[in-house]
Amino acid sequence: MRFDVFTLFPSVFQSYFDISILQRAIQNKLLEVNIHNIRDWSTDKHHITDDAPFGGGGGMVMKPEPVFSAVEDVLGAPPACPVILMTPQGRLFNQRIAMDLARFDHLALLCGRYEGVDERIRQYLVTDEISIGDFVLTGGELPALIVMDAISRHIPGTLGDPDGAMDDSHSTGLLEYPHYTRPSVFRDWKVPDVLLSGHHAGIVRWRRQQSLLRTYLRRPDLLEKAELSNDDLKILEEIKQQNLNPSAVVNPETNRPNGE
Ligand code: SAH
Repeated sequence: MRFDVFTLFPSVFQSYFDISILQRAIQNKLLEVNIHNIRDWSTDKHHITDDAPFGGGGGMVMKPEPVFSAVEDVLGAPPACPVILMTPQGRLFNQRIAMDLARFDHLALLCGRYEGVDERIRQYLVTDEISIGDFVLTGGELPALIVMDAISRHIPGTLGDPDGAMDDSHSTGLLEYPHYTRPSVFRDWKVPDVLLSGHHAGIVRWRRQQSLLRTYLRRPDLLEKAELSNDDLKILEEIKQQNLNPSAVVNPETNRPNGE
């Protein structure tokens, strides 16, 4: 997977790709990330990349010429891959979109600043628009990092564990079950027995129950869209019945019934 990122602030990106999993993916040539400074394509002597909005009002707007030149120089005209604009007006990013985008072998991300980009960039250069949430940031650099990070988890070989991304929250339509590591007892707080039992089928079932319970308690909206087996529906029915009696509800933080 190759990412080409177009930004006015290239220095934002380096340290993030210098660490851990993403760095290993780059070293192993699973991932290539090229950061391009849009300013390098401005032709005037002051390297101007933004200007005041027509019609007045505050703020500055990113000019079309350097952005078109940068993208077309690197990717050709028309660009050889999807060009994704980071914008709070785009489609709302989620795990499904991350998985879909991971199927491409080349993506370009365009980071806005100030009031955003000249509308002609959006209309005639960009092929996709992504928002990372219903809030407004000062620039598209963090959204681009978020999108690249989430996509990278789905590139085969990027995670140490090949199945690592499959169970993740949102990959299955549910929240993931809780995790524990050593020590098995910490300050009197014990890891659930089943996880220490070595009983594989029991562990799988417990994790599925926990996943359904967590989703039911925290994000019931997800259950409406999740693909659920008959077993899942039975477990959910049990959870709902227990829920009528609050003391029987397992607290997902402690994995103990509330009454304990
Ligand atoms: N005036 C614009 C917002 C500009 S914010 C509007 O109201 O739509 C400046 C830049 O930050 C944007 O061009 C975009 O690249 C980035 N940005 C801000 N919030 C974002 C979000 N939620 N998702 C993706 N990009 C965002």
